[in-house]
Amino acid sequence: MEPSKRSEVRRLPERGDYDPQTINSILDEALICHVGFVADEGYPVVIPTIHARSGGTLYLHGSPASRMLRSVKNGAEVCVTVTIVDGLVLARSVFHHSMNYRSVVIFGRPREVDDPDEKMRALEAVTEHVAHGRWADARLPNDLEFKGTTVLAIAIDETSAKIRTGPPGDDDEDYELPIWAGVVPVATTFGTAIEDPALRDGIEAPGYVTDYRR
Ligand SMILES: Cc1cc2nc3c(=O)[nH]c(=O)nc-3n(C[C@H](O)[C@H](O)[C@H](O)COP(=O)(O)OP(=O)(O)OC[C@H]3O[C@@H](n4cnc5c(N)ncnc54)[C@H](O)[C@@H]3O)c2cc1C
Repeated sequence: MEPSKRSEVRRLPERGDYDPQTINSILDEALICHVGFVADEGYPVVIPTIHARSGGTLYLHGSPASRMLRSVKNGAEVCVTVTIVDGLVLARSVFHHSMNYRSVVIFGRPREVDDPDEKMRALEAVTEHVAHGRWADARLPNDLEFKGTTVLAIAIDETSAKIRTGPPGDDDEDYELPIWAGVVPVATTFGTAIEDPALRDGIEAPGYVTDYRR
């Protein structure tokens, strides 16, 4: 995918990646995104929210009363970011401290999803993004719930990934310093599921809960 003028990584461009497979894998692994937009009232806001990808489309969902969804569906441009932190990079010099990360930035103008089939598939994608296998188990939305949910779609076509991996990069003269340097790996882990105190007797946790992974 060719970057646009505003999606081209200019600072450390060798860390930029425009391969849709790379971008998709980061979007799919990240639990949430941050949506930046200018609210109807005229000031900038950045709001955390769940996202899901299906093909080349990113979906957001929420209440029709959400100021975020209202502002954005009125034609506001958005900038969506996702970030996965993989490590703390401790260099010998303060200056070269960094983090290992995989992040994506998407620019776009969302459209509201009106088509009932696409909307249902988008809700499936959002549910499956959170827990793969859940859509087949949970009660599906009824008419009221379906109408009471706004779904927005953003084409993933003006986008970039930026990725840092590996050890610190110190200045040549600093490698002789008696200072520890390296990377502290960072990973998201999922704990043992805590069952709802109101759970009916005899219901076992499904495999995607007991063995949750992304
Ligand atoms: C992990 C996570 C997942 C979420 N997933 C979704 C989702 O899928 N769909 C959805 O609609 N919402 C989701 N939310 C909630 C979302 O962040 C917003 O609170 C919600 O969309 C309402 O937005 P609004 O602009 O209408 O809020 P408003 O209440 O109109 O916002 C007014 C002000 O409240 C403050 N505010 C709003 N939200 C937050 C927040 N999350 N944290 C701190 N201050 C805040 C800000 O100052 C904001 O300017 C999620 C939040 C988190 C943290």
